[in-house]
Amino acid sequence: EPKIKIGIAGYGNLGKGVEYAISQQPDMELVGIFSRRDPSSVHPVGDSVAVYPLADVEKYVEDVDVMILCGGSRSDLPEQGPALAKLFTTVDSFDTHAKIPEYFDALDEAAKPAGTTAVLSVGWDPGLFSLNRLYGESVLAEGATYTFWGKGLSQGHSDAVRRIDGVKNAVQYTIPSEEAVEKVRAGEQPELSTREKHVRECYVVLEEGADAATVEETIVTMPDYFSDYDTTVSFINEEEMQKNHSAMPHGGFVIRSGKTGNGTKQVMEYSLTLDSNPEFTSSVLTAYARAAFRLNKSGQHGAKTVFDIPTGLLSPKSAAQLRKELL
Ligand code: NAP
Repeated sequence: EPKIKIGIAGYGNLGKGVEYAISQQPDMELVGIFSRRDPSSVHPVGDSVAVYPLADVEKYVEDVDVMILCGGSRSDLPEQGPALAKLFTTVDSFDTHAKIPEYFDALDEAAKPAGTTAVLSVGWDPGLFSLNRLYGESVLAEGATYTFWGKGLSQGHSDAVRRIDGVKNAVQYTIPSEEAVEKVRAGEQPELSTREKHVRECYVVLEEGADAATVEETIVTMPDYFSDYDTTVSFINEEEMQKNHSAMPHGGFVIRSGKTGNGTKQVMEYSLTLDSNPEFTSSVLTAYARAAFRLNKSGQHGAKTVFDIPTGLLSPKSAAQLRKELL
């Protein structure tokens, strides 16, 4: 069997994580990294890994089976997703939840006529958490679903803060309210507002001369990202940033609390504890690259989400092997 040939578009945290993840997959090989930056300034982990200008990507249509898109959700993917889906079967981790429907449409429009398959919003949330929300509400038809994040550093939110004018560096932590979590685990099915479930903490390094009050106001009022939460913003220097905020842990849980029969309590919980959010997300992207490749080969073109993909397609094992070993 020839290996699945993978390209990486964009080399940040996710790009690096994908490079690592591919090396653990028996049926995949890395063709190269495609970056907007000068290739000589991009340094892959592997010595022999090629870096090409993203502008030349069209030349590699025959060499790459699946392009894993590792750009940011806020401004990279809305552009790169549809453009690359015209050329390649793609997988991405687009995580601006409110904009997924329109992003899906843009990818579908690009991929269908091109005969490619564009798998979007893969990772843990959206991604594995989405699947567990679906399992929960399908199985326990009467009940409530809760998603808690953290404590952890959120890539999407940190990215959004870093792109604000006057911000040199920033991290954002999401923290679940313990009181809320305990009530949910006890099967109480509390009604929790967005504000009651989590708080958001931002640590920001300003550019020379930037106005702290303006930056803070831009953060706390940002729609989709911060406007529905209690957000605190702390200004720190670059040294403190490097010392105290360099790791990228995350995690969280999806809980479905329901009742069956005559009021029987049932609680389902799916939990993740991640020392590196990007390395984990990249591992999910890589497994879905296999599914994307197989879907495309079987003629299923257009945009697809985790809900559209049979789980067996994620595994390098055959259907028969999966029935024997995992069922
Ligand atoms: P990142 O490190 O900021 O990288 C984003 C892009 O920025 C890269 O593709 C790269 O593109 C460019 N870049 C990286 N390092 C650079 C540098 N030193 N100088 C200039 N440009 C640089 O972002 P990330 O941590 O990989 O995360 C990407 C996205 O993943 C996030 O926006 C988030 O939406 C998503 N995510 C999703 C989930 C999920 O569960 N679904 C979880 C985590 C993250 P070029 O190589 O082309 O320059």
